[in-house]
Amino acid sequence: MNRTNSRNSNHKKHTPERSCTVCRVKSDKNTLIRIVKSPDGKPVIDVAKKLQGRGVYICPDTDCIAKARKSGILAKALGTEIKQDFWDELSKVSANTAVNKDLKLKSILGLAKKSGTLIIGTDNIERDKRSLLVMTASDCSDNVRNFAQSKEYISLNLNTEELSKVIGSRGGVQIVALPLTPSSSGFSKSAKLLMSLYSVKGDTLFE
Ligand SMILES: [Zn+2]
Repeated sequence: MNRTNSRNSNHKKHTPERSCTVCRVKSDKNTLIRIVKSPDGKPVIDVAKKLQGRGVYICPDTDCIAKARKSGILAKALGTEIKQDFWDELSKVSANTAVNKDLKLKSILGLAKKSGTLIIGTDNIERDKRSLLVMTASDCSDNVRNFAQSKEYISLNLNTEELSKVIGSRGGVQIVALPLTPSSSGFSKSAKLLMSLYSVKGDTLFE
């Protein structure tokens, strides 16, 4: 454990940044849409950001998508033709990524807490033997982040104060988790939705 801490003490692990092919603005990789050219030459939206091949990134933004379409820059970057149905799909994914992510996250966490499904704190998460999706506050401590990194985890766009508020706690909540195993409460589905919104793992709603 000490070894891990010393290795990470000087550089916190951040999500890599990527540039939007259209506006060139750099953003957290997880907030951009990745598009790859599939082996059969078609453009594919890589929700999990794990597909092999030449990939380009674009903002989940109507302006960037419209510009990409007009200029042909996306087709050029991918080296493939882009058809109408792809633009439709891209707009759909974009709307989902940009607008609803925050709301969905907050409602899922709030409901999970109310139903008693949400697991709060490293001790409870460690004790839980199910397969879990772990979520950390953006300003969590290095220890909490190191703990989370050993698991399937999402770094939320909520700080400790906001996360605590969302789940109706008085404060200090740095880490929560949802079970990924199917259960009667149905929260494994919510967890999978969050994973797709945050581009974690291959299970997505867009497949
Ligand atoms: Zn852009």
